[in-house]
Amino acid sequence: MLKLHRFHGGLHLDGHKTESLGRGLQQASIPERLFLPLRQHIGEYNKPLVEVGNRVLKGHMIAANSSLICAAVHAPTSGTVSAIEDYPVAHPSGQPDTCIVIDVDGKDEAVEPTLIDPRQLTANEMIELICRAGIVGLGGAAFPTSPKLSRGKANGIDTLIINGVECEPYITCDDILMRHYAAEVLRGTGYLQQILQPTSTLISIEDNKPEAIAEISNALAQTPLANTEIIPIPTIYPSGGEKQLIQILTGKEVPHGQLAFDIGLFCQNVGTCVAIARALERDEPLISRVVTISGDNISEPGNWEVRLGTPISHLIELAGGYSHAPGGHLVMGGPMMGFSLSGAEVPIVKASNSIMVMREETIPHTPGYHDECIRCSKCTEVCPAQLLPQQLYWHARAQAWERTQEFHLFDCIECGCCSAVCPSQIPLVQYYRAAKSEIRAAQKAQFKSDRARVRFEFREKRLLLKKQKDEERRRLKREALQKKRAAPGTGEPAPDPVQAALERVKARKKSAQEESQ
Ligand code: SF4
Ligand code: SF4
Repeated sequence: MLKLHRFHGGLHLDGHKTESLGRGLQQASIPERLFLPLRQHIGEYNKPLVEVGNRVLKGHMIAANSSLICAAVHAPTSGTVSAIEDYPVAHPSGQPDTCIVIDVDGKDEAVEPTLIDPRQLTANEMIELICRAGIVGLGGAAFPTSPKLSRGKANGIDTLIINGVECEPYITCDDILMRHYAAEVLRGTGYLQQILQPTSTLISIEDNKPEAIAEISNALAQTPLANTEIIPIPTIYPSGGEKQLIQILTGKEVPHGQLAFDIGLFCQNVGTCVAIARALERDEPLISRVVTISGDNISEPGNWEVRLGTPISHLIELAGGYSHAPGGHLVMGGPMMGFSLSGAEVPIVKASNSIMVMREETIPHTPGYHDECIRCSKCTEVCPAQLLPQQLYWHARAQAWERTQEFHLFDCIECGCCSAVCPSQIPLVQYYRAAKSEIRAAQKAQFKSDRARVRFEFREKRLLLKKQKDEERRRLKREALQKKRAAPGTGEPAPDPVQAALERVKARKKSAQEESQ
């Protein structure tokens, strides 16, 4: 029996899980138009592969990787590309972003798959197929899976952790996915084992999900995986955070500035395992995901398997519409880590695990209005990253970015525990998010200017080198010419012909003068 450990802080929250679990997993209908942002992952933008007017089939790659940290985008159904323009997207900034818009033809015609037995593939071939399928971590972080696997494989992995924890209130998409797709979760886990060759595998699920634990246990009994255990863990927020889960299961702390695979651990969400199984077995790219629609302003909360690019307004209709005043407040993610959306036209993307439809009056913090900090230290007591949230707040508020980094701002997992307990209702996590984006923007600008400087210095060096080479070439040419003119057999340079002619004229004049005397 594995000994479980505790992490610092955390909160026992009201789960609000039952509201969305009653209707099982439903298949969402496909809307008339899909809006697919070019970037739905952490990393660089993809390059569009289609133009307005192109017909696409389900599974067609419509935007390809432009760099290593990228995840391709595929057409979720058949139709015609009607625009490539800026549209509202799910982003904390609320800014629109470039989307490929598909007018759906209703036929749902798919690209012919290329079927290969995944068990015959090498680890690198599997990673390549996962990359082509555009898979990202579906727990909400949306980090591209293939570069993460490549790093993990290169580093060597001791323990593979499959994350079925889903600790945030209202969100139940992983719970329902484990109940419905337990066999695929395990097959995906098996492929991860084939790639990473871990010594042991731990499938961790919170103990408030007995049905999911039972389904995964049954599937494991039917298709056993080597050295694999299911580990129910106590329900406490944020035990689903990667670093917190690692601490619970192994007692290890990921050192500051390092990642899990730096210490031989690799975490992957259960939804990502399903996506991996589908990509390798059916040649199916990531074109849909399970999304929870819940909150206190939706008539029929539930879980839907949704094609990417579906506007949230379509899902709200499927969920019976608003239960109170239309509009309200839309949040992508849960009440702790989610962020507000600009409107219901925003499409579902790879990171959209949940949409919360809330009444305006139940949104806890109104940005810009809060009381002053009373130095009660409650935020420090609950911080699972063992930071000093109060200090971070002061420095973030004063825009003292260097000081925020000295207090390890980037170790903050944005869990929102500090904001939740703050008696002054300070939206602490919003200050941290704003500080992080300011610092990242400054680092990006610095990187750009450094790159420009390096390019300039390189050009100067190249021009100097060319000048030196040209001079050397001219010198060699001069010497070769002089050699050519050298008196035969003497090795001495031949006299200058002009000088010789002048000498001859001088000599002739001299002898004429002597004769005339
Ligand atoms: S919980 Fe709020 S009031 Fe208390 S120390 Fe932290 S920031 Fe200040
Ligand atoms: S949001 Fe950051 S600072 Fe606040 S409790 Fe979570 S990890 Fe700590």
